[in-house]
Amino acid sequence: MVGGEVSFNSLRGLEINTGTCSRCRLFATRKNAVPGEGPEKAELMFVGEGPGAEEDRTGRPFVGRAGRLLDQALEEADIRREDVYITNLVKCRPPDNRQPRDDEMDACHHFLRAQIEFVDPIIVCTLGATALMRVLGKRGISSYRGRIFRRLGRCIVPTFHPAGALRNPSLKPFFLTDVKEVGRLITSREAYGRDRRDQTLF
Ligand code: SF4
Repeated sequence: MVGGEVSFNSLRGLEINTGTCSRCRLFATRKNAVPGEGPEKAELMFVGEGPGAEEDRTGRPFVGRAGRLLDQALEEADIRREDVYITNLVKCRPPDNRQPRDDEMDACHHFLRAQIEFVDPIIVCTLGATALMRVLGKRGISSYRGRIFRRLGRCIVPTFHPAGALRNPSLKPFFLTDVKEVGRLITSREAYGRDRRDQTLF
């Protein structure tokens, strides 16, 4: 069992569980919950903010325009999408793509925390300012992007959200570079074996 006060038997059970969750107001407006997807164990996990319209429609993370930019970044970094776990801070779409509210992220936190425990990534790449704030407690994505933070045996690498890079194309090269750096970290094995990974990352 994983997940502290709310426990799950398996990652797949957790993913199914999001579909019936009504712990925050976002359940009322979603078409589909978007728990995340990827292997049950992965060296790399991406954590974005929340699902958008295409994700809400399909139930899959990062399948719209931002997802296509993430796919491009992965390809350029020589990382296979099917080898990574991709999820968000909240599993249901905030209306009009607004930023998730603190109480919504709090309500959904147990899912993400348990996903990290199940998937046990070495590297967590946070996408955008909200994920940076939530995971590392830091404000100012421009200052922190591309840096490597070691936390409890994992490497946290913040970068821009691909949707932000689409809105502001000057950010796109930084986003692509940061994902390449993540690929380099995996290839070099630099991120591995320093400490025992603590499952309660945040
Ligand atoms: S966003 Fe998370 S906590 Fe809120 S209803 Fe969806 S799955 Fe539940």
